[in-house]
Amino acid sequence: MNYRGRKLDAVALWEEFVDFPPNADLSGGFAPLVVCPNPDHGSTKKHFQINLEKPLVHCFALCGISGTYEKAIALVKGISEKEARKVIVQHTRVSLGPGSKRKSRGADGRVRRAAIGDRDENAVARLDDFSTYLPPVALEYLSARGIDAAAISTWGLGWDADERRIVIPADDERGISRFLIKRAIRSKDWPKYLYWPEGAVKTALLFGACKLDRKQVSSHGLVLCEGSLDAIRLQGMGIQATAILGTGLSDRQAQIIRSLRPRRIFFMFDKDGAGIRNTELAASKLTKCPLFVCLYPKGKADPAELTRKEASHAIDTALSMTAFKRRLRERGVSPKVKSPKRERKVALG
Ligand SMILES: [Zn+2]
Repeated sequence: MNYRGRKLDAVALWEEFVDFPPNADLSGGFAPLVVCPNPDHGSTKKHFQINLEKPLVHCFALCGISGTYEKAIALVKGISEKEARKVIVQHTRVSLGPGSKRKSRGADGRVRRAAIGDRDENAVARLDDFSTYLPPVALEYLSARGIDAAAISTWGLGWDADERRIVIPADDERGISRFLIKRAIRSKDWPKYLYWPEGAVKTALLFGACKLDRKQVSSHGLVLCEGSLDAIRLQGMGIQATAILGTGLSDRQAQIIRSLRPRRIFFMFDKDGAGIRNTELAASKLTKCPLFVCLYPKGKADPAELTRKEASHAIDTALSMTAFKRRLRERGVSPKVKSPKRERKVALG
């Protein structure tokens, strides 16, 4: 069941409160009637029904439990509905999303699944501090960036209501949650990205590395982009993409990339001066792998703007590093230009 964008194991949740009959069919729809968990009801007759597809329950003895999971658990445990929501969230898992079956066939598929499990516990613990409910304004923002409900669930995206920022759990290459990225959605909110806890070293991990199909990376290649949402979007298209989280590939990130043994590396940084500097710096640290630079179609300047077709095309037609440098020279562009005005004119495409 989808619960606030996350995958909820409703049976595991309700097993804490009721006894399901042995061999009961709990695959979906309504669970068989069970003894009502309301301490004030006090009957051993089976009056209580749990909907396993929508988060709703009902007691046919009309003891007062009827409605949402939150409301029912709050009543049973004598806690607030907000606290009840946390109880429920503890039984949610980040959905493995479409394509996970194909991925799990890989030689290390089992290992990776286990890693995803570890990650969940961590992410859930950290996300407890934030609402997992995304308000319309956040959903609109994500949808405009091509991030759909499946991706929200897969990546466990949340919402910081106080700061009005999208919360993105950042996991390391083993799938362990290290910190949270809080992305502003209004242009007036600065800085664009906040990291939590404060002092988190964002370049210590390569965002999205834990969700890669490593077989694809070694047989086809790896795409490097700047932002976490870019990587999420590209992975949603089936592209093996990771993000360096902003400014300059770190030595640690280069080390992680080398350990992935990519057949080729495609740089898909933003089409601006910073993007060119990122390309140059990353190229200087990744000397042992064939490097390519993706070009953007006219009028587009970052991965979030690309359609699936455009992204594939950009990868298929990427320039070799040598050709890219020649192109920069021909256009009279030195990557070290300082003037922001000049930089803005620089075209990667
Ligand atoms: Zn009842």
